[in-house]
Amino acid sequence: MGSRTTFIMGGKQMAKALYISMLGEGHVNPTLGLVTDLVKRGEQIVYYSSNHFQEKIEQTGAIFRPVDQRAQEILQEISNLINSQPVEFFLQFLHAMEMITDTIQNEITNETYDYLLYDAQTMVGTWIAHQCKLLSIATWTTFAFSNDPHENMTLTDSDDEKGKLERLATLQNFLQLEKIQECKKQLENKYKVPFPGFFLSNPGPVDLNIVFTSSYFQRNSEQFDDNYIFVGPSIPDSSHLGDFPIDELTGKQVIFISMGTIVNQQLELYQKCFTALKDVDGKVVLSIGKNTTMEELGDIPDNFIVRHYVPQIDVLRHTNVFISHCGMNSISESLYFEVPLVMLPIVNDQPMIARRVKELGAGVLLDFENLSSEDIKQAVHEVLENPIYQEKAKKIIQSFHKSGGRQRAADEVFKFTRTITKR
Ligand code: UDP
Repeated sequence: MGSRTTFIMGGKQMAKALYISMLGEGHVNPTLGLVTDLVKRGEQIVYYSSNHFQEKIEQTGAIFRPVDQRAQEILQEISNLINSQPVEFFLQFLHAMEMITDTIQNEITNETYDYLLYDAQTMVGTWIAHQCKLLSIATWTTFAFSNDPHENMTLTDSDDEKGKLERLATLQNFLQLEKIQECKKQLENKYKVPFPGFFLSNPGPVDLNIVFTSSYFQRNSEQFDDNYIFVGPSIPDSSHLGDFPIDELTGKQVIFISMGTIVNQQLELYQKCFTALKDVDGKVVLSIGKNTTMEELGDIPDNFIVRHYVPQIDVLRHTNVFISHCGMNSISESLYFEVPLVMLPIVNDQPMIARRVKELGAGVLLDFENLSSEDIKQAVHEVLENPIYQEKAKKIIQSFHKSGGRQRAADEVFKFTRTITKR
């Protein structure tokens, strides 16, 4: 790998960058606006991701390259293990990250890049930046985390001290497990970068952080230094409509249900929604994901439109209430279109995102583990009838608009990479 260089094209100073993000829609989608803007301004971007995202990435004008195929398979295979076998999940996850790192490093040996952008939820970028001595910019598609687990609790939690301490202890015990420690040591020796204290969520040393939310929505954001830039969500203008009957939603009361793209095998929940919402006047749009079949669902009420994947951005423009698993993108998109929420978080960052929405008053939080059709019915009714949720959502939206979005993100990348010349 050569050191940082710049080159001239069409009279403008151009730079060549690597982008590495492969963990799923929620991690790749928010980066696409930034990449489109960077390419328009003349940057050349080589984007490493999963094959699934090839088309979307190429549409931005970036050059797509697939990450290691076997690692992609592993990530697919372990996607359901996070709750049932967390140790196995975590070890396999790190193994996949190692494979991805080694393959990319091998492929770029004879290439020269000016800087590296990468998803903050993996250590691939940290390892490559260190090994190749590249300027590094981490992009956060969920809340930003500190390297200090104690501090993280204040960034992400809103409830009682006891609950926080219990969660902290569980996490620390997990990280101390022998197998996890062995794996950590092996990777630290290999890549010569110490693991950060909170290595489940923080990528460790990085030159700049771009966070795709607002400093208002991020809890206690004043705890971060200037190295963290809160640009707000990067939301596309529309989604691919395909054959979705969007006109059927015009002028109707619309309830939208989606559990995202990862933990969406929720047959029981979908059937509870049928019972809860079958008599609703208007339309209920349900996205069931790729792994649940229409046959499994049984009888679908007449007022439902069910699809494996829906054009979420366009559906949200018509939606009155969104029943969501609280992935960060779904939440940002919902708030962006002033849609209040009924929240059913399950894993990962979903519970903390839901707690923050509740804290700011833009939705009702339900307990996914103990949920009845009646709970869903009542929560939907509450959010539809009480204007307070939408009013509170508006305050969050204002903070999104003020944050600058994808253009600000591109401005910051330019400013940073043009002023800092060497690591
Ligand atoms: N999405 C969509 N249609 C669907 C389901 C999901 O367009 O039927 C998009 C949604 O707009 C969002 C992303 O997929 O941008 C899901 O990301 P999120 O962070 O909400 O959840 P995850 O899938 O990562 O759990």
